[in-house]
Amino acid sequence: MPDIQTTLRHDWSSEEVQQLLSMPFNDLLFRAQTVHRQYFDPNDVQVSTLLSIKTGACPEDCAYCPQSARYDTGLEREKLMEVQAVIEKARAAKAAGSDRFCMGAAWRSPKERDMPYVLAMVKGVKELGLETCMTLGMLDADKSERLAEAGLDYYNHNLDTSPEYYGEIITTRTYSDRLETLDNVRKAGMKVCSGGILGMGETQKDRAGLLVQLANLPQHPDSVPINQLVRVAGTPLEDGDALDPLDFIRTIAAARIMMPRSHVRLSAGRETMSDEMQAMCFFAGANSIFYGECLLTTPNPAANKDQALFRRLGINSHRHVGEAPLGLEALLNNADNEQSLFYDAAASSI
Ligand code: SF4
Repeated sequence: MPDIQTTLRHDWSSEEVQQLLSMPFNDLLFRAQTVHRQYFDPNDVQVSTLLSIKTGACPEDCAYCPQSARYDTGLEREKLMEVQAVIEKARAAKAAGSDRFCMGAAWRSPKERDMPYVLAMVKGVKELGLETCMTLGMLDADKSERLAEAGLDYYNHNLDTSPEYYGEIITTRTYSDRLETLDNVRKAGMKVCSGGILGMGETQKDRAGLLVQLANLPQHPDSVPINQLVRVAGTPLEDGDALDPLDFIRTIAAARIMMPRSHVRLSAGRETMSDEMQAMCFFAGANSIFYGECLLTTPNPAANKDQALFRRLGINSHRHVGEAPLGLEALLNNADNEQSLFYDAAASSI
């Protein structure tokens, strides 16, 4: 009988996590599922939506990202959206059943001139009765506090990979810059969403290193997105070996064991996953997804495909007694929403 985690820990070592990732697959998944059931309804999966409020032309050099201005990926740039347009999208998302609205901007960090607009977006979306989430790049203490005061509930900022492998992926901001942003966000009273990307050529040790960094934060992130790299033509990572899907599932399981109270989110890369692989990820402890068929730069499973998979797996069945789960059918009936509510998490490392 494996030693089942019952308390929150912040003292994981890389060796320990590598051992976890190397366990016999069935033992690892049993352990993860057992931990999962101690903290969550195993048949409940949170569904998140995203809106890109400013697309492309980012000065950073994240090697996986089609939004970087440094790579020719054919992505069309867009300026910061009008506040009212963002609020209308949020209203449509609420009508479609969302309870959290995430807004992403491809910035190194928000500039002072952008802040009034961003704060107005947070206030406006909040007034609709939605939870608010943003990902805008690095945040200092002052901007963190102002966003929190405006009503921002969550802030996403990923660590991406291990500190050791990080320099292979990004050179324009440091690992400690990222940790500092997470610290500012937490100190301002917002919830932290932070995870990484797998399949960038990293080793198992790097995957362990990423999880150690996340789990050993003073407080575990409330949400932990685990992305599978989407190889976009024109980015430095467009070629390279695909990750063994079982290693992806192992990483989900280890994240669940190490951060038992966090929502572990399947993010970018779901389009290339079979239904069976997604089912294994849910069994391993993933309990959140991004949905949306028409994403900005790379595909994501169609919302109706997600709905069908959830039905086949009995996921969220308690949420659709007499109605579509999370209003997905309403969403599908609104072509305009379908086209515009979502963008790709991979495009900005969410
Ligand atoms: S991941 Fe974010 S910071 Fe990095 S290039 Fe893309 S948009 Fe910019």
